[in-house]
Amino acid sequence: MALELANDGRRIAFQTLGCRLNQFETDSLASEFEHAGYTVVPFEEHADAYVVNSCTVTNKADRKTRNSIHRAARRGDALVVVTGCFAENHKRELQQQPGTLTVDNARKRHVVDLVDAHLRGEIPQPQLLQPDLFSYSVPEPIFHTRSMVKIQEGCDNYCTFCIIPYVRGRAVSREPSEILDHVRRSLDRGYKEIVVTGVNISRYRYAETGFSLLIEQLLEIDADFRLRISSMEPDSLDDRFFALLEHPRMSPHLHLCLQSGSERMLLKMRRQYSAAQYAQMVGRIRARQPDFNITTDVIVGFPGETEADFAATCALCRELQFGHIHTFSYSRRSGTRADRMPDQIADSIKRERSEQVRRIGTVSKQRYRARFVGRCQRMLIEQIDEQLGCARGYGQHYLPLAIEPQGQQRNSFVTVKVTQLDTTDDPLLRATPV
Ligand code: SF4
Repeated sequence: MALELANDGRRIAFQTLGCRLNQFETDSLASEFEHAGYTVVPFEEHADAYVVNSCTVTNKADRKTRNSIHRAARRGDALVVVTGCFAENHKRELQQQPGTLTVDNARKRHVVDLVDAHLRGEIPQPQLLQPDLFSYSVPEPIFHTRSMVKIQEGCDNYCTFCIIPYVRGRAVSREPSEILDHVRRSLDRGYKEIVVTGVNISRYRYAETGFSLLIEQLLEIDADFRLRISSMEPDSLDDRFFALLEHPRMSPHLHLCLQSGSERMLLKMRRQYSAAQYAQMVGRIRARQPDFNITTDVIVGFPGETEADFAATCALCRELQFGHIHTFSYSRRSGTRADRMPDQIADSIKRERSEQVRRIGTVSKQRYRARFVGRCQRMLIEQIDEQLGCARGYGQHYLPLAIEPQGQQRNSFVTVKVTQLDTTDDPLLRATPV
């Protein structure tokens, strides 16, 4: 209470870049600031401190992060806190910027205390605090209707293009009882959708508990909710996991990172699966659930990618009928093995290939969504705009839905029938409650 009164009138603003893990961590920190008496304001407004939760996965992410830091730094004498993967990867650059406090990923959890210390006139010293990867509190449902649960951190795979193992560190899994407790508390707060997240979640292992057993335990929690698995690597999945995909609380959606359809490229990327194994996995899931939504990431223009390699990627993307393809142009990351490889691909070729994959992705997304017209979905309502007469949310297959609201509440389930598909690149499904 004392902290609340002391901070009354303090304003804090966030800018989050990159992955879902960052989003979850920001939501949790923002909730803690609110509990401590701060008001969370948009990044464009005046604040006492600005927190940039940054990303460094591509050059574009670096550019966006620098831009956010500069925007915050222009706002007078406010404190600018830079945390996240850019802060790890560009420590020296940040040390030269006065008024900026750099906090590494392992100590991000302490941002509230660090900002408090600064505003009390102390000199915050993040390096003196204990690393703490997991004890983020459950965010308030005011930020999102989905609650994420972080089950692990870091990665040991060292894919040749990826900077993540260098900035998020070695793989560490969180104790299962803590994860279960976090999920139960999220459900008690009213969340209806739990998203399992981490850097490389399929490699989760804590003592005798592997990924599948953990997911099974989460699905057994007796409450009205659905479980979604966020982005994962298509390796180390066992029979038990495939069986769990049919559980009534499991969302029939997986984001399985493909990266390339060329066996040669996958080897050069040092991925842990082949294109044939990936296709088999998709076939296995769809044999039991033909409408299962599989979305993916594809990298184009990896060093040495020939026309034939790229054609293999396009062919596999067409064949697997993804619900969405997130296309990345390969971005050189200093310190990674791919950065030192010969035969780097020209930007113009990367742009052209990226556009081709984007077009394939649009066609397959439209086709995938069209199959739901005339069918029912269990929609979780995320936003209601009374003025526009529209409520939006997602169905269990992670399809964006819109209905005319008829007294429904935000963050509640409603069964709807899809009546129409918009004709856009990212088509919304229009539906009516049944
Ligand atoms: S699995 Fe590969 S791409 Fe994913 S975080 Fe680890 S190193 Fe990066």
